[in-house]
Amino acid sequence: MQQLTSNVFVETEVRGCNFGYVTTSDGIVMIDSPHKPSVAQRVKAEIEGKGQLRYIINTEPHGDHWTGNSFFDVPVIAHEGVRTRMLNTDLDEHVARLATFGPEEPKLLEGYQFNYPVITFKNGMTMHVGDHTFQMIHMPGHTPYQAAILIKEEGVVFTSDNIFHGVQTWLHEANPDLWLVAVESLRKLDEEIFVPGHGAICGKGYLDEQGAFVLEWKEYVKGAIDQGMTRDEAVANLTKMTDRYPMDVEQDGMAPMVMRMNAGNLYDYLTGA
Ligand SMILES: [Zn+2]
Repeated sequence: MQQLTSNVFVETEVRGCNFGYVTTSDGIVMIDSPHKPSVAQRVKAEIEGKGQLRYIINTEPHGDHWTGNSFFDVPVIAHEGVRTRMLNTDLDEHVARLATFGPEEPKLLEGYQFNYPVITFKNGMTMHVGDHTFQMIHMPGHTPYQAAILIKEEGVVFTSDNIFHGVQTWLHEANPDLWLVAVESLRKLDEEIFVPGHGAICGKGYLDEQGAFVLEWKEYVKGAIDQGMTRDEAVANLTKMTDRYPMDVEQDGMAPMVMRMNAGNLYDYLTGA
């Protein structure tokens, strides 16, 4: 994995969300976990060579951020909405989908059980591990249950999917107005190094582009509503927004589905459905 600062290591080039870990004077804390079981195994071996893993912090409710929790026997911390989402996820369906991710995956999924968050927060929480401070701040936008995780001593923020850096933005569960508030909240932080939910490491310089794209999405769907399109018509006819950025790693071919899901969600949001 890529070393970002003295104690922060990240992975941004595999299928699923970006994730990372922080080496402290009293063990290791992982932020989000790998989506693919085979990647989780590799990361587990890497971490074991560096110290004892103490906690996992999840940044949001989407499965690519918490699937890999199960491969690590440590307590998980997350927004309470992440726990609720996991409790409502069908285990068999989840495992069946993961098994399609590659030839190595089915065997690694034998006996798979969810590793749920056992410590949850609503608005925020601060955790001290060794010489490091982990500040979790609720920042709804991409979903209602996003959190930014600040690693104070390292100047690093794991932003969750409120930032998609140079890859397709998923708005299938988004509140675009709160997302724009989240972008401004990120801008006000002291920390300058951002680990986005997807895409390469970035900084505050990308916030304008991310915010503008969320706003453009909202205006695009609003235009269809103003023309009198029904939801079905909007989902079928709006196609232009997903040609701007590539899909993230191993998501090729998914752009039309993302287009439909984003358009449908924003249509519901804008019409109050
Ligand atoms: Zn997400």
